[in-house]
Amino acid sequence: MGSTTEAHDKPHVLCIPYPAQGHINPMLQVAKLLHHKGFHISFVYTDFNHNRLIKSKGQQALDGLSDFRFYSIPDGLAPSDPDATQDIATLCKYTPVTCLAPFSNLISKLNDSLDLGVPPLTCIVSDATMSFTLKAAEKFGIPEILLWTASTCGLIAYMQYHQLVERGYTPLKDMSYLTNGYLDTKIDWAPGMKDMKLKDFPSFIRTTDPNDIMLNFFITETAALCKARAVIINSFDSLDEDALEAISKSQPHIYTIGPLHLMLKQIQDDRLMSIGSSLWKAEESCIDWLDKREVNSVVYVNFGSITTMTAEQLSEFAWGLANSKKHFLWIVRPDIVAGDTAKVPPEFMAETRERGMLASWCSQEQVLTHPAIGLFLTHSGWNSTLESIASGVPVICWPFFAEQQTNCKYSCSEWGIGLEIDNNVKRDEVEDLVRQLMDGERGKKLKNNAMEWKKKAQAAASPGGSSSLNLDRLVNEVLLPK
Ligand code: UDP
Repeated sequence: MGSTTEAHDKPHVLCIPYPAQGHINPMLQVAKLLHHKGFHISFVYTDFNHNRLIKSKGQQALDGLSDFRFYSIPDGLAPSDPDATQDIATLCKYTPVTCLAPFSNLISKLNDSLDLGVPPLTCIVSDATMSFTLKAAEKFGIPEILLWTASTCGLIAYMQYHQLVERGYTPLKDMSYLTNGYLDTKIDWAPGMKDMKLKDFPSFIRTTDPNDIMLNFFITETAALCKARAVIINSFDSLDEDALEAISKSQPHIYTIGPLHLMLKQIQDDRLMSIGSSLWKAEESCIDWLDKREVNSVVYVNFGSITTMTAEQLSEFAWGLANSKKHFLWIVRPDIVAGDTAKVPPEFMAETRERGMLASWCSQEQVLTHPAIGLFLTHSGWNSTLESIASGVPVICWPFFAEQQTNCKYSCSEWGIGLEIDNNVKRDEVEDLVRQLMDGERGKKLKNNAMEWKKKAQAAASPGGSSSLNLDRLVNEVLLPK
């Protein structure tokens, strides 16, 4: 068989992530795993993120391979800071409306490109928060799988939103309910979850507006899950047993194939692995700096790609770190202070020169697996939490929004790997928690738990492990059924 014929014969998956860093990374990882299983991949960015990638990595980052190609479509949003994540509520409101037509046009174009070496589409893998793509899949008669990039506990929590509305827990009567103890209300009826309080549910219940975009967005998106052929989750079975069982009642075709970044370790293909998805340019010097530190001696601080805080909160974190007297690597995104440029106090810089390193972005996977890292102060985004679990690093959680509140609750109570810091962050609490985790008995216990989870994560992602077997099942049962 000639090589062109072989290329035409390949099954072809079209992958479309939600346009934010924490969604793009896991979708690219799924795409690489499927490519390794013999699929031709088409990967779709929005023009906005496509341009950011070119800026951070150069055009070659998107050149791909002959059977792993990139495309981009407009998102129809008004121009915003080209170096920062677009506003999430605006994306959720407009993407379903503005992206459907260009996405459908792309499907037509791909299906008409046989002569250019592009096989006909076999399946769409779409982010689960882009469920409008199901309409396109239906129109073209192509099966669709949804990728849920957040946590399983986050998913089961969002699936309770309609009940929380129906039972009158949200919208809140007025904003005083945020501080009057109401969020401590116990929720004991949510399937697959235990010891939950209202405050542990994803943050979008904290609204007084029945038309709140995010509250309604997640009611719609979770309802759409059952319309997909299957749902992929970036987690592993033993981490989420109860929640997975509860979710499978409404969508029985769930495939947990994570941690995705560990699954990729099985692949020896430099060209494939060199395809990156980082929207910021990582500062390589972070790793050189860590190389010079002792094992388990460094606090790593990073709040992901979306979190913002006030200048006062930034200053409290800074002085808490300084007063702990520990070494730290702190990633301060230039846009982390809402409406302002991020500036840490100059006296803090002077005092911590010997002990601290600041950078604007890093290769987090590399940092978390570095032996010098002893602790992660995180916003509890799911990728960060899972990357920490997979590296055996305990966490201090400062959840910002979305299902980060639920991830924090599970990190502290279910998985036993973390402690929560008050949202109204104060330097003394930062110092105290850092010391407890780096030096105290409690810290040792949480570190041991994290190391146990690391072993389980590695086992799941090894050949014959639950995630590897689930990936095989996904391919054989859903993508290429006989
Ligand atoms: N990340 C990174 N370098 C950084 C900060 C973040 O590579 O300096 C990556 C991180 O490894 C993770 C993703 O960006 O894969 C952030 O996703 P997460 O779900 O943790 O948080 P979000 O950014 O969506 O709030």
